[in-house]
Amino acid sequence: MSTPAHRPAEHPVRPHLAVRDGGTVTDRLVEANHRYADAFSDPGMDARPVLRVAVVACMDARLDLHAALGLELGDCHTIRNAGGVVTDDVIRSLTISQRALGTRSVMLVHHTGCGLESLTEDFRHEIEDEVGQRPAWAVESFRDVDQDVRQSMQRVRTSPFLLHVDDVRGFVFDVTTGLLREIDPAA
Ligand SMILES: [Zn+2]
Repeated sequence: MSTPAHRPAEHPVRPHLAVRDGGTVTDRLVEANHRYADAFSDPGMDARPVLRVAVVACMDARLDLHAALGLELGDCHTIRNAGGVVTDDVIRSLTISQRALGTRSVMLVHHTGCGLESLTEDFRHEIEDEVGQRPAWAVESFRDVDQDVRQSMQRVRTSPFLLHVDDVRGFVFDVTTGLLREIDPAA
């Protein structure tokens, strides 16, 4: 039986990540923001991304997009969700990104070991059983990450709302090596 002091072996406490006594994780983030703002100076940018690119990626915590892609503040739009799936809402963001804020390229980044690979659409039915209402959204789980990237590229390329679909490329990020592997859309 677990006690409040019990911590699972697979989640050892790392002292540098421990939440301060008496504070929540959000308190800790707000405190970090104060330090960030102390060192911050207004870069004088407008909202249009410097590199005119939108990156759609999974929300996975192991994927530091700016570091992994050499991006700096102001360079790109970053659109993230579970799986980096091109949903209607991602198309909404891309449409605004291109039509109102000048981006021209789309980069899709999925990754190895994604949580969506261990789910199925049964997830929705289990939620329905629990709460009495089935979510309107699809889980968008997948078995083959390469194929999932191809489907995402296809959804972007065939969207009637986007102005720029010539430069749409998809990749799988390896969370163990940090390397991107490009996916051939035609394979
Ligand atoms: Zn993922």
